Amino acid sequence: MDFSTVGGELCTETAGGYGKSSVKLVAADRNRHKGKSRYWGSVLFYKHIILGTTVLLILIPLLGLGGMIYKYSRLMEDYQGLLHRTYSLYEAEAVENRRKISEAGRKISLEISGWNDRVGKIPFKVNTDDWNYILVNDWNPLPAAFKPQLDVLDDGHQVDYRIVDDLVKMLSDAKEEGMDLLVCSAYRSYERQADLFGSSIEELMDQGLTYIDAYYKTREQYAVVSYSEHHTGLAVDIVGKSHQMLDERQGRTKEAMWLAENCARYGFILRYPKGKKNVTGIEYESWHFRYVGKEAAEFIDENDLTFEEFLKTAEADQKNMAHPVPD
Ligand SMILES: [Zn+2]
Repeated sequence: MDFSTVGGELCTETAGGYGKSSVKLVAADRNRHKGKSRYWGSVLFYKHIILGTTVLLILIPLLGLGGMIYKYSRLMEDYQGLLHRTYSLYEAEAVENRRKISEAGRKISLEISGWNDRVGKIPFKVNTDDWNYILVNDWNPLPAAFKPQLDVLDDGHQVDYRIVDDLVKMLSDAKEEGMDLLVCSAYRSYERQADLFGSSIEELMDQGLTYIDAYYKTREQYAVVSYSEHHTGLAVDIVGKSHQMLDERQGRTKEAMWLAENCARYGFILRYPKGKKNVTGIEYESWHFRYVGKEAAEFIDENDLTFEEFLKTAEADQKNMAHPVPD
């Protein structure tokens, strides 16, 4: 009995021990099954949610940034293309200008050589290298560094010191005869020309014109930089005080008429006469006077020449070319 009890106990013990282990194993197995079904809402689930959200929060801005960089690089490519096209346009324009200028020079040379035969010999010695015969026009630029020796007029304008006496005498004689004159422009340095030209283009572009349109509009008012006779210090723009506009009407003021009539006596010529654009390259300007010296000015006036024609005649004389006297 004891034995059986012991045995029984033992057996029970053994059985019990076995039984406990089995219960544990079954419970663990069951728990595994239960764990799967409890994933939603579990700590692990929330960990995954947080992890996923973090990854998304990092990825989305990265993708956005990548897109922006791509767009920016495309924009830069477009911009470079635009710059390139604009530059090509400027280049084309410069080439076109050079072509026009050389063509104008060629035409004018032809024109003058045809005309040349009609004029008599110049009755005084002309050295075309002398300071008062310097030629500046659309096909004869001055170097940027050119700087005449200047003197300042009472009104602050500067001119070559060698023309001051004649200029002042002309202005005072005109005044005595009732003319009210005003010098509105004289020496213009290379830098000043560049300033005026550039700011005129800028101003016109601000008004909505394209660069090309602004350029040509400016060209009507100013010579291209380096091609202005004002750079010589020998050119002055003079108007009547009563009408200070540089326009067609200026030529009809009594002051403009007096100057055209008398300027040669003081060594000046009307540099851009009416109807001579084919020779001078510039439209009629009743206000622009150029100092060439008294003899030359009077010869030019008497023979109704332009400065270009006068110089061509002088060159022909120097080479002893045929020079029939006009009718
Ligand atoms: Zn002028």
